[in-house]
Amino acid sequence: MTARARNATIVAATLVLGVFASWLALGWGGPALVTKVGEVASVAASAFAACCAVAAVHATRGRQRMGWICLSVGMFGWVTSDLLWSYFTHFAADAPPSPGVVDLGYLLLPASACLAALLVPFGGLRSTLRIVLDGALVATALFAIAWTTFLRELFAVTNVSGLELAVSVAYPVGDVAMVTFALVIVAQSPPGLRMCPALLAAGATLLAIFDSAYVFTATYGDAPSNVIVIGWLTGLYIIGVGALMVRRLPATLLRATPRAVFWVPYVPVPFALFLGARELFAGESVPILIAGIVLIFVALARQFVLLDENRRLLAAVADMALRDPLTDLANRALFNDRLAHAIELRGRTGAPVGVLVTDLDDFKLVNDSLGHPVGDELLRSVGERIQSAIRTGDTVARLGGDEFAILVEDAPAIVEQIADRLVQAFEEPFTVDGRSVDVRLSIGLATAVGDAEVSAEELFKRADLAMYSAKRAHAGSRSFTPDMRQDATELNLPSQQDRTGGCGGVARIEFLGDLRRAIDEHELDLVYQPKVSLRTLKAVGVEALIRWPHPEFGLLEPADFLSLARENGLMEALTDFVLDRALEDAAGWRKAGVDMPVAINLSAPSLNDEALPGTVLSALAKHGLPPAILTVEITEDVLVSSVARARSVLDELRSSGVRVAIDDFGSGYAAMTYLHEFPVDELKLDRQFIGPIVHDERAASIVLSVVNLANEFGLTCVAEGVEDRATAELLRTYGCEFAQGHYFSKAVTAEAIRHCCAPTDATLSSAEATRPSWA
Ligand code: C2E
Ligand code: CA
Ligand code: CA
Repeated sequence: MTARARNATIVAATLVLGVFASWLALGWGGPALVTKVGEVASVAASAFAACCAVAAVHATRGRQRMGWICLSVGMFGWVTSDLLWSYFTHFAADAPPSPGVVDLGYLLLPASACLAALLVPFGGLRSTLRIVLDGALVATALFAIAWTTFLRELFAVTNVSGLELAVSVAYPVGDVAMVTFALVIVAQSPPGLRMCPALLAAGATLLAIFDSAYVFTATYGDAPSNVIVIGWLTGLYIIGVGALMVRRLPATLLRATPRAVFWVPYVPVPFALFLGARELFAGESVPILIAGIVLIFVALARQFVLLDENRRLLAAVADMALRDPLTDLANRALFNDRLAHAIELRGRTGAPVGVLVTDLDDFKLVNDSLGHPVGDELLRSVGERIQSAIRTGDTVARLGGDEFAILVEDAPAIVEQIADRLVQAFEEPFTVDGRSVDVRLSIGLATAVGDAEVSAEELFKRADLAMYSAKRAHAGSRSFTPDMRQDATELNLPSQQDRTGGCGGVARIEFLGDLRRAIDEHELDLVYQPKVSLRTLKAVGVEALIRWPHPEFGLLEPADFLSLARENGLMEALTDFVLDRALEDAAGWRKAGVDMPVAINLSAPSLNDEALPGTVLSALAKHGLPPAILTVEITEDVLVSSVARARSVLDELRSSGVRVAIDDFGSGYAAMTYLHEFPVDELKLDRQFIGPIVHDERAASIVLSVVNLANEFGLTCVAEGVEDRATAELLRTYGCEFAQGHYFSKAVTAEAIRHCCAPTDATLSSAEATRPSWA
């Protein structure tokens, strides 16, 4: 249904409702006519709601559609009963038999609504069972309350049979269950998708209220009053409009669970217990006894289910720390742990340990020419193929980028065999994005045998050296030999080697000299990537990223020169430059009326530098900026040599008002420990987690867990590397507030930030062009 047709339908339905309601309220044409009008209106309203539910069936897919099919069936049950009611009163000259088929039709709605609620695809870590138990808990408690306060008395005066009693009780119980489920669904729905369930809940509440009123009057033999009929009409109308507002749910409807969901179902319980206990003391009451027993069992079961959910959440978060989310293989942390363990074992038993390090040849080419999503898909296939070429007991890990490692606790001959199998496995091309792509591996092998002492780091380094040697020689796989170390002293960093055309030792020294000069003479540049609010799509800050416009090799990125700077003690000077330049730019923006917080990246050596807080604060003072404008991002792969010192550095920064963020959160074990060790304000979720969330439920539930975790700790959560709208929308539904990524904006110059964020024109370039519908 188009938006226009929907709006027209709603307007028409509102008008018709208005006419019917006025007619009933004002009693035009006398009681007989009003009764007839009431009947026609009831049939019309329930038929409207039923047709809207059918429209919702067409608009949805999967489990959501099944839910709407259930609701449609329930609504048609209501229509049928309305028709039967009219038939009996007008043609059969007698009220319909009660309990009877008419009750069956009306009661079909709450039953099917409860079933529909269970079909809502919450998925992930939240169990449908808990929703059932929540509903049961509230319904039982409310029944106990209703029984003690008015139902018992009501049935006492009317002398009804057991079946009649059961049917009469079924109405309020069914209604309460329906309302409870609807409320639980509203609470669990992402903010952008709440309209439809909220309207359904409102409609159901009205039906419940007026059903109860009717049960009350009917017991005394009265026909439904006009007010009750208007209440029903309005309830059905709202349900119909709710159905028209339906929006297709994302594949996984995971989001942060609001705290209220945990305690709200318990609200009526104390009242039920109090009233029930009073009733029991006064004498025997079978319904209350049954309700009490049900209540106890449901509450216990709910507690158990909650515990289980928490356990699963913790397990998922712990697992996340050790898995590479893209390929589902082990990550570097788990690999290092297993390797260390294997080496330790070797110390006792002498068992051989082998490490293979592999790197894809020309992967960057794939990424650059076919795009990152294709690159990611290729990496997943590569992971699968590696796994299929090795034995089940061996550990395969993705270390980052296109680098994989395999731990083989076996003899050198076996390790070599595995390397050969791997080379063979990559002879077949891969199919990604409908094309066939040839991928070659360079593999380095190193083994620890006999009783020579080798540390885990050393063994890994040897395999790494062998891999570079294989790569340079285009040799497929190579085993480590000591002469490779010789080459290594002249070896340069791989990415930089690409840029500098595989330069040897002399060129490397020149490159380092260039870098030194560039830092000293402030030839480096900063670009800024906006961090946006997922709610407003406005920039709420920027992250400074370093670039080096190299006279010979063009614009170099951090990956091209940062390790070189790190290895040669240039980081401190580099950080000083970044700090000063970033604050200078921020001060410039401020002058132009743009109050833009800025974040800089810090690496470990700076964290161990006790002078850092002083440097930062004097830089802030120099540019006349408040500390709150600055965030420092600490990367987790950085090993901090002294946790205590780093903590005191961060503490000092924070207490002066500077914000601290953990960068690349989730990409390794360290980040999890950082949370315990360091005082932080912000978590930046690594982009390797963010990329797959749209199609990968596992990645999605990990991200959701981290967002929950961050909210739990009161930390700001920022998703990195958001590349498309679907990801942005999903993140927002998870309760993640901020994001960065190419979808919103790439890193741009300081000048561009000043322009695009100037008060007159406060939106971002690409997000502006493709402004999501929810903005
Ligand atoms: P980071 O701090 O995680 O920065 C984010 C990186 O992801 C940036 O790469 C950014 O351009 C890139 N990026 C942002 N959005 C997207 C996206 O949607 N898709 C993809 N595929 N990539 C995206 P860049 O500039 O190459 O920086 C790489 C890393 O270098 C940074 O990672 C940071 O760890 C380090 N770095 C950058 N500047 C500095 C600096 O001034 N000082 C220090 N110590 N490290 C820096
Ligand atoms: Ca960063
Ligand atoms: Ca990052």
